[in-house]
This record gives sequence, C-alpha cells and structure tokens, in this order.
Amino acid sequence: MRLQIPEICGNFIDFSHDRFYDVDVLAQWNSPLMGVGLFVIGCCIGSFLNVAIYRIPRGLSVNEPKRSFCPHCKKTLPAWQNIPIVTWLLQRGKCHHCQAPITVRYLIVELLTGLLYLACWRMFPQVSALLAFLLVTVLVTISFIDAEHQVIPIHWTTVTSVLAILGALSQPHLLDLLNQGGMHSALDGLKRAVLGWFTGFASLWLVIQIGKFFLGRKKMEFDEPVQWKLQEGFGENEQLHIMIDDEAISWDDLFFRDTDRLILKGHGIKLNGKSTKATDLVIERTCVTYGENRFEIAALKSLEGKATSVVIPREAMGSGDPHFLGMIGAFLGWQAVFFTIFLSSLYAIVAAILGRVGFGRPLPYGPFLALGALTWMFGGWKTWLAYFQALGLSSLS
Ligand SMILES: [Zn+2]
Repeated sequence: MRLQIPEICGNFIDFSHDRFYDVDVLAQWNSPLMGVGLFVIGCCIGSFLNVAIYRIPRGLSVNEPKRSFCPHCKKTLPAWQNIPIVTWLLQRGKCHHCQAPITVRYLIVELLTGLLYLACWRMFPQVSALLAFLLVTVLVTISFIDAEHQVIPIHWTTVTSVLAILGALSQPHLLDLLNQGGMHSALDGLKRAVLGWFTGFASLWLVIQIGKFFLGRKKMEFDEPVQWKLQEGFGENEQLHIMIDDEAISWDDLFFRDTDRLILKGHGIKLNGKSTKATDLVIERTCVTYGENRFEIAALKSLEGKATSVVIPREAMGSGDPHFLGMIGAFLGWQAVFFTIFLSSLYAIVAAILGRVGFGRPLPYGPFLALGALTWMFGGWKTWLAYFQALGLSSLS
C-alpha cells in the first residue's frame, strides 16, 4: 500500500501519484541529516561560485590556480582560511594577511547557495532535486556576474540548457511543477523543454528588437565633417568625455557594459598629435582600435579628428538575457517564462525606485530574471495554477 508521501516527508509537492518515487527512498531523502548535509554542500558550492564569479568575467581559468587567493595581496589561502561562511565571519570580512576588506558578496553567495539547496531539498524529491540544484547554482552565478559586469556568459547558459533538455528527456516529469504525477513520455519531456527554451529566448529577443527599433542605436550623420576629440573631465564630473561638435558625452553615458563601443567614421584622425590614415575608429571603455592597431586609453595623450558619422550603441537589454531566459524555460516550461517576465519586470521597477538606480542607466536584468524564476520554483507556480483554474482556463496550466 502506498503511503501519503507529503505527510511523511513534508515535501511541498505531492508526488504520491508518481510511480517514479519509492516511498522508502523518499523517507531517507527527507531525513533532517540529509538536509544539513545538503546545506553544507550548498555553502561549499557557493564558495566555488565566488571563485567563478570573480574569475570568469576577468577571463581567468576557474581551475588554475586551484587554490583561492586574496584578490588584493594575491596570497594563496590555506584550506582553513577557506571555510565557507565561517572564515568570513571569523576574519570579520578581512584578509588574514593584508587586512584588505573581502567583499560581503562572498558571504552572501555562500549563504544564499546553501539556503537555496536547503529549499530545493524541501521542495523536490531526490532526482528532481538534482536538476533544481543545477538550476539554482547557475541562477546564482549568472546573477552575480551580471550584477557586477553587466554581462551574461552565454556558454554557461548554452551548456546548462542542453543539460536541462537531456534531463527532461531522461526524466520527463522532473521540475514539471504544473503537471505533477501526470504521465509523461520522453517525447513529452523533450517537447516541453525545447518549447520552454524557445519561448524564453524568442520573447526577450523580440523585446530587444522592439527596443532597438524605438531606442535604437543612436546614429549621427553630418553633411560636413564635424570636429571631435577626447577630453578629460571638467567641473564636478571627472570622467573622460568625448566632444562631438561641441556636445560633451561622458564615458559612463557611452559605455554601459564591457561590450559597448562607439564607432566614428571620418577623416583626419589624429592620435597623440600625429595624423593617421585611419577612416574608421572604434572606441571602447578602455581602448581605441583602428585597423590592426590598438591603444589603451589610459596611455593616450590626445585623440581627435573629424567625423561624418558617429554610431552610439544603446541597448535596453544585454544580448545574453534571451539566452538566460531560454535556459530558465528549458528547465521550468513555457508557463514559467511568462511568469518570470512579468515578475522580473515588477522586481526591476521596485528595485529601480528603491535604489534610485536604473534611471538613465540600464539595470542588469539577469538578477531579476533569476529572482522571477526562483519565485516560480518555490511557490509561484501554485499562484499560476490557482489563477488560471479560477478563470476556467485549466488548459493554460
Ligand atoms: Zn590579502
């Protein structure tokens, strides 16, 4: 006879109709010791994520060097100074050697990953939990990379999307929160994951295209070549500026993210006072490129010229966001995609108002997408279910 699984284990999800879960194994899975163990594992993985968050956007290898080091004094940390949460608290957020402050992000990521693993354990039975662990791990990593560097590593989302699709193919009922206990074939799982990915990718891609149409890349064309030059900051604003036809544009207004570039077409480009043959010049936040030549901005003495056209890129959203939402959809299905879009915009608006950020500067959107997806995983799907069933549209759930 089958026991009522939710009663013995306290999982939020009723998997009792699912032939896949063995009651005895579930009882073991739900022992508090398992929870403690998974919390500790989550914190350790969080500690590794801190390394990945620091190294990946800087183009450093995650494996080499193997041991963690202090970003300030570069001293390698012995194992006892590398205990998740404990080390940060004992050393009061300072490096043991050089006393340089260690960002509170290290503590937050370790604790957050541990707590999310704990929540996944409470929420999902064992095999589903494996996929849930993978998803929360990637959500945390990408959120913090995006928050700090305004970039989403697309190779991460691609690899994780493939894993999600393979997971759905082999265990079609995993993470299908809206149809728990239903019968699923491998083909159902595959369809669901691929449709989820496509919905996620296509919807944000469309938003970006619409955004480009209205906000656009700002392009200025001039009948007569106009004078432009780089200029040090003046007055209260100490940033570097570019003066184009007497209009000053500051560096922070030009370069939101590492990939942004300013393209100048024209003639008579002078670098450090010397004329060059260049007609096209690309300026990025830290360097200038024409043809094969590349110069660090910090090393330049002067840069000026005449231009007939200037293209200033303006994107409302990073190009990695559709990939990120696609990945979320591959795990959680197309319904979760719409839920995540709706909720993440709400979160972003609230954050913009509370933090007074985002006005004039685009907010990194990745963390809000992650927050939306987590809301879905840990209860949002119930709201969706209740809402559409109340409307009599149970086919949408
Ligand atoms: Zn140090």
